[in-house]
Amino acid sequence: MQTIRDLNELRRARAMLEGTVAIVPTMGALHAGHLALVEAAKARADHVVTTIFVNPMQFGPNEDLARYPRQEAADAALLEAAGVAILWLPNVATMYPAGFATKISVAGVGDVLDGAARPGHFDGVATVVAKLFGQVRPDVAFFGEKDWQQLAVIRRMVADLTMGLEIIGVPTEREADGLARSSRNAYLSAGERAAALALPMAMKAAVAAIEGRADVAVSLAEARAKVGAAGFVVDYIELVDAGLSPVGVLAGEARLLGAAKIGTTRLIDNFAVGGAKEKR
Ligand code: AMP
Repeated sequence: MQTIRDLNELRRARAMLEGTVAIVPTMGALHAGHLALVEAAKARADHVVTTIFVNPMQFGPNEDLARYPRQEAADAALLEAAGVAILWLPNVATMYPAGFATKISVAGVGDVLDGAARPGHFDGVATVVAKLFGQVRPDVAFFGEKDWQQLAVIRRMVADLTMGLEIIGVPTEREADGLARSSRNAYLSAGERAAALALPMAMKAAVAAIEGRADVAVSLAEARAKVGAAGFVVDYIELVDAGLSPVGVLAGEARLLGAAKIGTTRLIDNFAVGGAKEKR
C-alpha cells in the first residue's frame, strides 16, 4: 500500500494503476463498517483507493470536529492488511487552499432531516466528495447505507453533475447487539453505550409494527417515546420514500431514518421497511 499526502504524488500513483479503480472515502477511526466497504470495493474493482480526511466543511460550529477520533497509524495498518492499493491522506491546506470558494449544494434530499438538523453538513459532504472524485478519478465509489441520506445526496450530485462513476451502497455493519458501528460510538460511556441500543431496538419495533399495518404516525410516535425514555434527545424518527419525502401510509418500499443524541454523542440509524431485508 502506498500512503500518499501530496496531490502530485497521488496523480502519479493513480496514473500507474491499470484497470478499474474504486474509491472508499472515510474520516478514519476505521471499524468493521469501513472494512466492509473496502471488501466490497475489492470484489468490484482492480484497485482500491481509500481516503482519510476529517473534513472541517461538514462539521457545524458546535459539533465534534476537534474531538473526532484520529488514529492514522492503526487505520493504515488495517487498510494495508485489507489489500488497499493507495491510502490518500490529504491535509486541510491541500483540500481547501487559500481562496477556496466553491460549494456544492444538493437541494431536496440534502435539505431535509439531517440537512435541516445540521445546516451546511451535506454541502460539506458533497463538496469534499466531489473533490476526492476529481483527485482520484475512480470508476466506482463505495458508501455505507449507515449514512442513508448521505448516499442519496451523493447519488443526486453524481447524476446532476454527470460525474460518470458508479455509486454503490453497502449494508450497515452492526455490533453483536445490533448497534450500528460508528466512529462516534467511541464517545459513549458504558452507561450511554447500554442505553444507545434503544435507538435500533425502537426503530426495529416500529419497522415490524408498520409492516404489520399499524398506523405509521402512531408507530413513529411510539419509537420516539421509547428512544426518549432511554435518555436520548430525539432529532427525528421518520418514514421516508426513495426521495426522502415523508411516507404516511406504507405502499411498497420505504426507509425508517432516525437521529438522536445521548449525552454529547449524536447517533443515526436506518432500516428498510416493506422491501428487501438486509442480509445481516
Ligand atoms: P465515516 O468515516 O464515518 O465518514 O464513514 C465513511 C464511510 O463508511 C461512509 O460511506 C459511511 O457510510 C461508511 N460507514 C460508516 N459506518 C458504517 C457501518 N456501520 N456500516 C457500513 N458502512 C459504514
